[in-house]
Amino acid sequence: MIIVLKQNATPEQINHICNKVKELGLTPQVSRGIEKTIIGVIGQEDKLRVQPLEAFPGVERVMSVMKPYKLASRDFKSEDTIFVMDNGVKVGGKQVVIMGGPCTVENKESLLRIAKEVKKSGATFLRGGAFKPRSSPYSFQGLGEEGLKYLREVADEVGLLVVTEVMDTRAVELVSKYADMLQIGARNMQNFDLLKEIGRTKKPTLLKRGLSATIKELLLSAEYLLSNGNFKVMLCERGIRTFETATRNTLDINAIPVLKEETHLPVLVDPSHGTGNYNYVTAVARAAVAAGADGIMVEVHDNPEEAASDGEQSLVPKRFDAMVKELRAIAHVLGREV
Ligand code: PEP
Ligand code: MN
Repeated sequence: MIIVLKQNATPEQINHICNKVKELGLTPQVSRGIEKTIIGVIGQEDKLRVQPLEAFPGVERVMSVMKPYKLASRDFKSEDTIFVMDNGVKVGGKQVVIMGGPCTVENKESLLRIAKEVKKSGATFLRGGAFKPRSSPYSFQGLGEEGLKYLREVADEVGLLVVTEVMDTRAVELVSKYADMLQIGARNMQNFDLLKEIGRTKKPTLLKRGLSATIKELLLSAEYLLSNGNFKVMLCERGIRTFETATRNTLDINAIPVLKEETHLPVLVDPSHGTGNYNYVTAVARAAVAAGADGIMVEVHDNPEEAASDGEQSLVPKRFDAMVKELRAIAHVLGREV
């Protein structure tokens, strides 16, 4: 249920409506936009009878939300969500954010070398996994807390933000201590306990689309984060499973305009996992920015042959730099910035 308020609704009237909503055992979420203030009501919609609510002073309209995701929808918030990181970097809006770094944090020295390169090219986030979701239990699982420390130290030294994956509810507190943005990996998109836990932290969060998840399911997972109080959420298209085997995944370019229409949340694209092949990464990254992505996340390694994971889809720094230059040119055409 969405309650649209009149332009001249007073704070007293808004409070009165919120109190009524709470009395019914529902949760009101007030969103003050430039044009309109609205109240999103979370909980069983049928507890609210539409007719009486419209009689409340200050109420313009009451809308039943047909979409299963409410807070993530454009109906709830028509303007694009922009959130500001602690160092002032903006996510969403005019800016196209660039995230780069290795698939896995391997050691401090190589992380530092790669971080310096991606920073020089224009990245604002350093990516890298310390807890890795590997298909095989025998593959390298990541350095754990040691990897988180390297990420923090290197990012601080170079002047970057840290985005890194958290796979387990028990690790949320630990990863939050080191990361600026928590990443929920594709394999955990529907780990609902993890979503709730991360929702409660209110930390900036990157939610990746599941391997076989529909856009609706992605938005419902985002709804878990939002309904638990976390509105600093960025969605990520990272390729889905299709019948095609020429590439690791099929990057769903369509998802970008669809998501931009359905939700106010910023949309990131990961062409590394989307293609699985360094040769295709730049082309798909260009397409993503042209299609309206709010950012790009790319795996970078200065010695891909020896990478602990995903070397085949990692760009060497020189290629990453060339890619960012092209993305910048495309962004400018669209009135945006890299
Ligand atoms: C990653 O970005 O490190 C990763 C594992 O990606 P995904 O969850 O999309 O497979
Ligand atoms: Mn990877």
